[in-house]
Amino acid sequence: MDLTFDLSLSASYENKSQIARVLTESWVEKNIFCPSCGDYLSNYKNNKPVADFYCASCKEDYELKSKQNSMGKKIVDGAYSTMIDRLQSNQNPNFFFLNYDVKKFQVNNFIVIPKHFFTAEIIEKRKPLAPTARRAGWVGCNILMSQIPESGKIYFIKNQQHEDKSVILNNWSRTLFLRDSKTAQKGWLIDIMFCIERISKKAFSLQEIYAFVPYLKTKHPDNNFIEDKIRQQLQVLRDKGYLKFTTRGNYEVI
Ligand SMILES: [Zn+2]
Repeated sequence: MDLTFDLSLSASYENKSQIARVLTESWVEKNIFCPSCGDYLSNYKNNKPVADFYCASCKEDYELKSKQNSMGKKIVDGAYSTMIDRLQSNQNPNFFFLNYDVKKFQVNNFIVIPKHFFTAEIIEKRKPLAPTARRAGWVGCNILMSQIPESGKIYFIKNQQHEDKSVILNNWSRTLFLRDSKTAQKGWLIDIMFCIERISKKAFSLQEIYAFVPYLKTKHPDNNFIEDKIRQQLQVLRDKGYLKFTTRGNYEVI
């Protein structure tokens, strides 16, 4: 895989953000396949507002955001209200995040975040633009990368090393069950996946997950049965093939 951008494409542009757009989009079109089915991607062209790429085979949509130099903890995105509307109507696209070295015009990291990992909790409202700004009062949003579990950040390229296609397709399919979950349950499942990852072990015990009760209580202050809820979510994750029960009170991520 060629990690460098085709600079010849930028010759007819002067505006820096336009140049970045042209270079990153053409790189994605050439190098990135659909993580859902493995087929090639097409560019929507003409600034379709909902997404930048689509897969003609499985109909998944993808929006591309890119960032220079470091990955950062937040990704700046568009209007806050549009994002929340999309989440509520289930019309948000999947999300590609391209991180590149601006001096070398080279890709460092490329991630896809499946749309089912998007919840209102990972969307941060920015301050309205100042009255003196051209779009005074406009409110944008940030995507909080640190609030998304690692299983929701599927790497195509990590520190310039590319991942095998079969691994990417498998990483995509193993969390698809979240699409069938209602919003409230999905939030809980994602919270529990997040806690499991914090333990940083493939095999873990119920007691280790219970250590996160105070953390989960801050996220769900009205729930007085957090431990019951944890066990229930672990059962759902087992039924969906995300983990297995080994012995009583012991689990293993598949
Ligand atoms: Zn596809």
